[in-house]
Amino acid sequence: CGIVGYVGERNSLDVLMGGLRRLEYRGYDSAGVAIVDDDGVMETAKRAGKLQVLADDLEATPLHRGGTGIGHTRWATHGGPTDRNAHPHLGDDGRLALIHNGIIENFAELKDELLAEGYAFESETDTEVAAVLLGREFRRTGELTEAFRATVSRLEGAFTLLAVHRDQPGVVVGARRNSPLVIGLGDGENFLGSDVAAFVEFTKRAVAIGQDQIVTLTADDVTVTDFAGDAVEVEPFDVAWDA
Ligand code: GLU
Repeated sequence: CGIVGYVGERNSLDVLMGGLRRLEYRGYDSAGVAIVDDDGVMETAKRAGKLQVLADDLEATPLHRGGTGIGHTRWATHGGPTDRNAHPHLGDDGRLALIHNGIIENFAELKDELLAEGYAFESETDTEVAAVLLGREFRRTGELTEAFRATVSRLEGAFTLLAVHRDQPGVVVGARRNSPLVIGLGDGENFLGSDVAAFVEFTKRAVAIGQDQIVTLTADDVTVTDFAGDAVEVEPFDVAWDA
């Protein structure tokens, strides 16, 4: 239901938890994060319940400090609100983590295809199908944006997807169809959010991602392409916000 992404010098966990708090008004039943550090160590944490349940867990068992991360609050549509069904979901044998807002309408047939190829699943969500598919495409292409392009061409429904892969520290890739995604432009850091509330504390310079587009985010660069891979011109705007 709420999505935050970050690449930069800060400890991304702080940015993600702050952003998810600002998105709490949307309602949710679970929360989770994935963090990647410069050495490509990726860690995830996720819990059913309020954000505070996750925050307490993270205090008891801290994650590595890492400058790249994604965070999610879930409103369950496929599979109950359990720890296991919370996002992120993993692909490529745990090397990538993915979060999702929306519904993947054709997840059942994709799941059958992947099960037939020997892939295993840990949750009842539609989202995990996208994570496993993205992992398969990463193995084939060796590159996250390319893998996204191949993955979204198979998905029907509504989605904002964000993912990180431990082989590409410093990169967050996102895609959207029928579900919002906004970039926050910083100085040596960049943000993603399901709405500007996710990052308005840090920057008021934003770019709305259009329908059927993919964004590749690093600390210093933002590249937007359409699902066919053609470059899209971005038009930054200033967020009007008194906070
Ligand atoms: N359909 C997904 C799930 O049930 C995502 C729900 C959401 O938008 O939070 O996990």
